[in-house]
Amino acid sequence: MIRLFFGLELLGELRMRIAAISAGIDRARWVAPENLHITLRFVGEVDEPAMEYIAGEAAAIRFEPFPVTLSGAGHFERGGRVSAVWLGVEPEPALARLRDRIEAAAVRAGQPPEGRKFRPHVTVARLNRGRPGEVRDWLAANTLFRAVPFTVAHFTLFSSTLGRSGSNYIAECRFPPEG
Ligand code: ATP
Ligand code: MG
Repeated sequence: MIRLFFGLELLGELRMRIAAISAGIDRARWVAPENLHITLRFVGEVDEPAMEYIAGEAAAIRFEPFPVTLSGAGHFERGGRVSAVWLGVEPEPALARLRDRIEAAAVRAGQPPEGRKFRPHVTVARLNRGRPGEVRDWLAANTLFRAVPFTVAHFTLFSSTLGRSGSNYIAECRFPPEG
C-alpha cells in the first residue's frame, strides 16, 4: 500500500522564506523546507492498481497555468488546542477549479468523495502542546505575510512515508496543464 496525496510544490526561494519564519514556538514540529506544500486532495492508502487508475484519471486533467499567492497566517485546532499553524493562500478561482477537477478524477478512479471543504494552506508547523502565547505571537507576526506570486505550471501526486524524523514526501508524478 502507498499513501498518496495531490498537491502543489513550492519553489526553492519561497521555501527558504518560509524556513526563515519557522521558529519561535517551543516544541513545534516545523515542516522541513523540502516538505512544504499545498495539499489539493488527500487520497490516503491505496494499492498499486488503484494508484495507476488515479494517476491515469489525473493525467487527463487540463488547466490553464494560474498564479498562487501565499498570504496571511492561521491555525487549526483539535480538541480546543492549536494543532497546526499555516500560511494562507489568496482566493484564486483557477485553483478551486483545479482542485475540483482532481476531486472528480479521484472519484472517477473509485475513491470516496472528500467531504471536507477545500481550505488551501501551507502547514508550517504541527503542535502537540505549543505554548498559547508563543502561538499567538507567531500568528500576529505573520498575519501580514505576503509572498511573491508564483505560477502553477503542474500539480503533483505525492507519496508520503513515515520516517524516523516525520513524514517524507516523494513526487511520484507531475501533471502539466495540457493533460
Ligand atoms: P504526519 O501525519 O506524520 O504528521 P503529514 O500529515 O504531513 O505528516 P500525511 O498524513 O501523509 O503526512 O499527509 C499528507 C498531506 O495530506 C498533508 O498535507 C496533510 O495535511 C494532508 N492530509 C492528511 N490526512 C488528511 C485528511 N484526512 N484529509 C485531508 N488532508 C489530509
Ligand atoms: Mg497526517
